[in-house]
Amino acid sequence: MSRIFSGIQPSGELHVGNYLGAVKNWVELQSRFESYFCIVNYHAITAAYVPGDLRARTRDMAIGLLASGLDPNRCTVFIQSQVPEHTELAWIFNTLTPLGELERQTQFKDKSGRQEQVMAGLLNYPVLQAADILLYRADLVPVGEDQVQHLELSRVVARNWNARFSPDAPYFPEPQPKLSTTRRIVGLDGQAKMSKSIGNTIGILESPEAIWDKLRPAVTDPARQKKTDPGNPDKCPVIYQLHCAFSPAVTVAEVEVNCRGAKWGCIDCKKSLHSSVVAALAPIREAAADLQSKPDQVDEILASGADKARIEASATLRAVKEKMGLPDAR
Ligand code: ATP
Ligand code: MG
Repeated sequence: MSRIFSGIQPSGELHVGNYLGAVKNWVELQSRFESYFCIVNYHAITAAYVPGDLRARTRDMAIGLLASGLDPNRCTVFIQSQVPEHTELAWIFNTLTPLGELERQTQFKDKSGRQEQVMAGLLNYPVLQAADILLYRADLVPVGEDQVQHLELSRVVARNWNARFSPDAPYFPEPQPKLSTTRRIVGLDGQAKMSKSIGNTIGILESPEAIWDKLRPAVTDPARQKKTDPGNPDKCPVIYQLHCAFSPAVTVAEVEVNCRGAKWGCIDCKKSLHSSVVAALAPIREAAADLQSKPDQVDEILASGADKARIEASATLRAVKEKMGLPDAR
């Protein structure tokens, strides 16, 4: 059976971009593949953070993932820092990753531009990501479009390691991205992709009122100044995209007609979107409320996920160190 691995940072709230680009896919794939899903807190510390907040966001992320439908009986859900092999393999991979490949990563350029002082961890972020994936020798990585370039780098690392240390029978597979149809959700600003670190998000656990407060001012087709101006859904970067993701086909068809024909205003369109989003997220909110009242159960799921992950991770690392001439602990 092919193996999948994917990760998410506890760098903020789980948002509809994460959900549509990655997590929804994870839920669908978990019964078809041997699956590992990791809350990558070592990645999250490459941006400024407060320790207490990170701890709380890590638990909240686990709750969001489980409430979205990850089933610990079908997949392994765990926290990166509870499996130290991730950082150990990352160091090894640092010695096989060309600096130029790291410097040209779009995410590094974007995120470093937003930081006052750029730390080496941000540059080396994709090396840790390669370690995350290759520790489980995963073939497939269900991610959003923004991660495709990082995965290309994971393949370079796998290739470099194989060429050097296991040239006859490649030990690491070259992991391929698995994209969803909603691979790039635009943020509420209509400018960048929806991102935890930009704060242009709709959280999947937000209340209906909070979601409305965010949808109401969101940008729409700039040609629609007045209600009587006809619009073009293709030029409405946020609302139409979310309608396509959350609303039934009949509603999407209605949006097309009413927007192009100036039959309703953008607020009417947003109200319709709001009810679709709220209806889609209601079962997730309900499941999350239940899990929030059982923090010990969540911690237990994560701890046994880490135990399971470590079996695989330590076997890989042992084999890697053996081939590289690095003695392992007893
Ligand atoms: P940060 O801003 O801290 O990088 P993020 O919102 O980009 O956070 P990540 O934890 O980096 O979230 O990514 C988790 C998963 O969600 C990845 O598979 C990523 O490709 C996917 N993803 C993130 N943002 C989007 C988006 N706007 N549309 C589709 N997929 C997304
Ligand atoms: Mg990201």
